[in-house]
This record gives sequence, C-alpha cells and structure tokens, in this order.
Amino acid sequence: MRRFFNLPNVILLSLALGVLFGWIAGSAGLLKAGFLLELLKLGGDLFKSLIFMVIVPLVFVSLICGMMSIGDLRKLGRVAGRTLVLYFITAALACIVAIFLVNAIKPGHAIAKETRDRIAKEHEAKQKEIVGKIKTTEHTPWTFIRGIVPNNVFSVMTSNSQMLPVIFFALLFGLCAAMIDSKRREHLAYTFESLSLVMVRMIQAVMFTAPVGVFCLIAVATASIGIEVVKAMALYCVVVVLALSIQFFVVYGGVIRLLTRLRFTDFVRACRPALVTAFSTSSSAASLPVNMECVNKRLNVSTSVTSFVLPIGTTVNMDGTAIMQTVATVFIAQLYAIDLTVTQQIGVILTAMLAAVGTAPVPAAGIAMLVIILEPLGIPLTGIALIWAVDRPLDMLRTVVNVVGDGVAAAAVGTMEGEDVKYVPEEAAVGFQLPTGDSQYP
Ligand code: ASP
Repeated sequence: MRRFFNLPNVILLSLALGVLFGWIAGSAGLLKAGFLLELLKLGGDLFKSLIFMVIVPLVFVSLICGMMSIGDLRKLGRVAGRTLVLYFITAALACIVAIFLVNAIKPGHAIAKETRDRIAKEHEAKQKEIVGKIKTTEHTPWTFIRGIVPNNVFSVMTSNSQMLPVIFFALLFGLCAAMIDSKRREHLAYTFESLSLVMVRMIQAVMFTAPVGVFCLIAVATASIGIEVVKAMALYCVVVVLALSIQFFVVYGGVIRLLTRLRFTDFVRACRPALVTAFSTSSSAASLPVNMECVNKRLNVSTSVTSFVLPIGTTVNMDGTAIMQTVATVFIAQLYAIDLTVTQQIGVILTAMLAAVGTAPVPAAGIAMLVIILEPLGIPLTGIALIWAVDRPLDMLRTVVNVVGDGVAAAAVGTMEGEDVKYVPEEAAVGFQLPTGDSQYP
C-alpha cells in the first residue's frame, strides 16, 4: 500500500480527481464564477509560480556545474551536435506524420460553412487579440539567432521564456570558470554545487505541493472546456491527438528502444511527475525543473547532459507544437477550400518546424505562431478562431509531447556519452518518496 502511495502516483491520482471534480462542478455551474473558482485558481497559480520561480536559477546554476565538470570543448560540441540532430529528426518525423494524417482524414471538409462562420464569429475578439500581439514583434531566423547572445544578462533572466540567452551566458561562464587557477576553481565549483543542491531541494519541496496544485489546475481546465465546440471540431481534435500519440509511442518509443537500454514503460514511469506537470500547467517551461529532476535522478543521466539538453529542448524542441501547427494550417486551408500544392505543403512542414522553435514554452503560445505560417500562404487568419476554440485540451496534450521529447533526447544523448542510463525506482530516487519520519520536508 505504502509502495503505491509514492508521490508520482499521488499526483496522478489528484489529476484524475481534478478531472472528475471539474467535470461535476462545471456541469453543475459551480465553476463559472465565485469563491470556489477563485480558490481553485489561486491554488493553481501558486503552484505554477512556485515552479516558475526556480526555473532561471536552476538552469543557470546547474549548467555552470555541468560545464565546470566537463571543462572540455570537444565533449560539449559532441553533446550539442547529437542533441540538435535528434531534435531535428524527431521534429521532421512529427510534421511528416501530421501532414500525412491531415491529408488522409481531411477534418476541414467535415465542418459546414455555417458552423465554421459561427465559431469564427464567437471567438473573433480572441483571434484579433492573438494576431495583434504576434504582429508587434518580428519573428525571423535572424531575430532568433540575434536573440541568443544577450546584451544584458540580467534583463533576460527576468523572463522565463528567454532560456537561450541564459544558457549562452551560463555556458560561457562555466567554460571560463574551468580555466581559472585550480584553487579558485575548486572553490567556485564547490559553491555552485552547493547552490545546485539547494535548487534541487527546492524543487523537491515544491513537488510536495503538486497534488493540490495539479488538482486545482485540472479542475478549472476541465470546467472551462466547451463540449459543444469540441464536438463540432471533433475530427480536427482526433487528427491532432492521433499524430501526438504516434509521436509519443512510435517515434519516442523507437528512439528509446534504438538508442538506450531502457524499456519505454520504465522511461514513462520515471518521467511521470514531469508529464503530469506538463499536462496540468500546459507549459514546458514550468515542467522543466521537474523534468530535470526526473531525468537526472530517476533515469540516472548526468547533470552535465541533463542541464544542457533539457533547457535547450524546452526552448527549441516542441514536436507537439509542430504537430498542432502543421495540422491546423492544412485544416484551415481545407475549411476555406484552399488547395495547397505539394510544394506548399513541404513549405508548411518547414515553417512549422521553425515556428515551433520560436514558440515560447508557455500556454497557448503555439497558436499565436500560426500567424507566421498562415500569412505567406494567404490562408485566412479568421481560421485561428476555430483552433483557439478547442485549443485548451490539445495544448495540455501537446505540452506533454514537447516535454517527453526533451527527456527522450537526454536519455539518448546520455547513453551515447557512455553513461549508465537506467530506471531508478521510486524508493531509490532521492526526493520522490513520501516523507518518512526523518524527512527534512514537511
Ligand atoms: N504550451 C506549449 C508548451 O509550453 C506551447 C504551445 O502552445 O504549443 O510547450
């Protein structure tokens, strides 16, 4: 019994209870407004803030620790190369499967013109807000590359979605720190290691609030899902979910099987807390600290690989988002009877891969980047209103895929680096047991 009630299982249980509660209370009209809704929102927001506040210091400190222990540019180059190749291949596979499915099933043909216009009208204000916001900033590969090197490291550290400049600074700091005289280097390494331990302890402590936080987030999310719209858009949702499932089980399952010695079920078991966090917060950034903990402690991937592969993946590797963007683009084209040529569809794949790289790891960010893919093809931006109408549950699912994709790459790169990547059961993975008598946590 006690074995069953470990923290990951308790979080899963609270997820199920949150869905049930949100569904019942939502159908009874108890979660439209009022005290209960405010209370649940408060619980969810506090949980998210507790995680968000650790992201930047955790990434910064652990990356420096990792760099100081690598201290070798060749290894860094190899790890970076392998990581980027894996990210590229999985993203390409994701988009190819997505484009194949959306062309085969044709969800855009299943919606009557009147239904299309009605849903577009209902969500017109939101669609205009999304389009307006995205057009205020320039999104080109040039601005993306320019943004990697910060001109003020403190200003980029104030945003949770600007991970690449923080990584750049930490890498440089770690490498240069490895070059100073040995006495000072040891001092510095010891200090950063101690800081890193504090960060890990903080995440472990925050995770004890996860059952309550996840319950609150999921209850509110479930109650806010409009079943009527989901029914009208059912086929679109089916295509997205199908493509996400193929990515999860076939592509990621295949990478784990081919490139590691892990069983995929063990991989998923080890990453449960990260998956539930991704599902309930719809944010890869919020899931990053938990994902790092799972990959490092429960899959035994070294700190240097974990702290390099995961933060970069959180920012640039979003296969779930690329899937949604590919399906949504072709779906909207079908809705407005626009025939996309094969060349245009290849263009959709390439821009979706790029748009996913530029998508911020926060809720609903992927939908905003659709503007960049739709506009050059002359596809009406009003279609975004329909995608928005059903995006909440799909965002939860694609964020899970985004987060798992990073974990898969970390496990594969760790194995390729000769590490003993293996499943560490709950009892042995420090910090994930329920508190015992002598625990330091509440
Ligand atoms: N919510 C997603 C994430 O954080 C981004 C998206 O909207 O696709 O990974």
